[in-house]
Amino acid sequence: MAEQSRLWRFHGGLGLPAHKSISTSEPLSTVRLPGVLTHPLSQHIGSPSEAIVTPGDYVKKGQPIARATGYIGSPVHAASSGTVVEVGLHPVPHPSGLSADCIVIRTDGRDDAYGGYDPLVNYRTLNAPALRARVRECGIVGLGGAAFPTSVKLNTGAGLKSLILNGAECEPFISCDDVLMRHKAEEIVAGAQIMLHALEIKHCCIAIEEDKPESHESLLEALSVVGDKRIEVVRVPALYPEGGERQLIQVLTGNEVPAGGIPADIGYLCQNVGTAVAVARAVLRGEPLISRIVTVTGAGVVQPRNVEVRLGTPIAHVIEACGGYTDVARHLIMGGGMMGFPLQGDQLPVIKATNCLLVASEEDIRPRSPALPCIRCGDCATVCPAQLLPQQLYWHTRGEDYEQVENLNLYDCIECGCCDLACPSHIPLTQYFRYAKAEIWSQRRERQRSDAARHRFEARNARIESERSERARRLAEKTKMLQTGAADPATKQALIDEVMKRVVEKKDSPSKETGDQ
Ligand code: SF4
Ligand code: SF4
Repeated sequence: MAEQSRLWRFHGGLGLPAHKSISTSEPLSTVRLPGVLTHPLSQHIGSPSEAIVTPGDYVKKGQPIARATGYIGSPVHAASSGTVVEVGLHPVPHPSGLSADCIVIRTDGRDDAYGGYDPLVNYRTLNAPALRARVRECGIVGLGGAAFPTSVKLNTGAGLKSLILNGAECEPFISCDDVLMRHKAEEIVAGAQIMLHALEIKHCCIAIEEDKPESHESLLEALSVVGDKRIEVVRVPALYPEGGERQLIQVLTGNEVPAGGIPADIGYLCQNVGTAVAVARAVLRGEPLISRIVTVTGAGVVQPRNVEVRLGTPIAHVIEACGGYTDVARHLIMGGGMMGFPLQGDQLPVIKATNCLLVASEEDIRPRSPALPCIRCGDCATVCPAQLLPQQLYWHTRGEDYEQVENLNLYDCIECGCCDLACPSHIPLTQYFRYAKAEIWSQRRERQRSDAARHRFEARNARIESERSERARRLAEKTKMLQTGAADPATKQALIDEVMKRVVEKKDSPSKETGDQ
């Protein structure tokens, strides 16, 4: 791991106007409880959760309402007390714009606490599986936007050298991590200590971009209180997309995560600083993940700021808490201006992955000129932090040669949008790459479906063939008995009847017999 004086540089990237001060001038505030909370069953990477409540059930704040299914999964908890009024399809914040299963709770305003998880203040007496179990049962997922289950990441195995807490919030407009580091530094440090214990390693680096001096100060102060020499704070240059875990690891260590690999392959584990706070609360206070800090920003909102919001709160309610929309509001985006995606409306709920709500004016969003032909200038490859060849990916995506697209490591594309910004021909390259990924997944699913159908067909044919052989064998046996006179007269007559019956059946349904071939 680098000392503060020794840093490396990742390939490509862009220096972008930050737009962060728009939302950091107001203090952190809390959005009041809404009348209705909508909790999607799938708000993390992995298999969707399964509802364990039904309409009419009374639930308390923090009570599990959906259980995790599968190893890569996470439970869902009620963000306040109230009555379950529906379990069914609702629009959710997702690039597809599709609806998904949700649990809807009408809140009663009492905020009655569930209290089902004891604080584990003496967590150092617990082993790693027990801590991972607590992190899993409290529904903790990565809060940087990816929402990957944290307990799975903590189950990395031996060979890990260092934990990296990612406070390099490089996406323009987003400032929720900056605000968290300023105001909750001691909880970030506590989360780091818990994760070091769970991972059984002795080094953690908290990475902060140079343009966040208040966060740096707060973290140093929190560290000086606990005096934990295993944790260091490293300031890194502000360059987009440094918050990508591969890019950050390269800046801090000089090591590259191999294509198709994960950071743990080279001994590092990255967690967002917000995730560290969630881990600390789950372990030290027994609090499941039911709220998060969201940056509400852009020229389209009256009072841009960072707010603590209960999960499941309607986005319209959050915008209203920030003064409502301005006259120039045109686009509602979840995530930042670079990697976020447009939302189809503001009645969607805040979910675990909602780090930012950008209410953009026409000026906030770069107006896109019509795309021109590629001039093969190579500028897109120069800025690509994943060291891909975007122009070749583009050509093969257009030609629908997805095998070649995969060979060119499409899945290493982090959809940062740097190539779009650099392209003098204004080609929406990232859109092509998102489309290619979706297309490859859909073709894979189609292939799996047709493979399963073929296997079913072959198994059916094998069964029919085996039954036919068995019938033929039995018939041959009986015919032999008739021919050799081994049967008594009654058995003989029964055998003749059966043979005649089969002859008639065969004659009546020739197509069925041949159809089974
Ligand atoms: S969007 Fe993908 S291809 Fe384009 S610069 Fe970023 S990582 Fe590279
Ligand atoms: S930057 Fe645009 S024009 Fe230049 S090679 Fe890439 S896709 Fe082609």
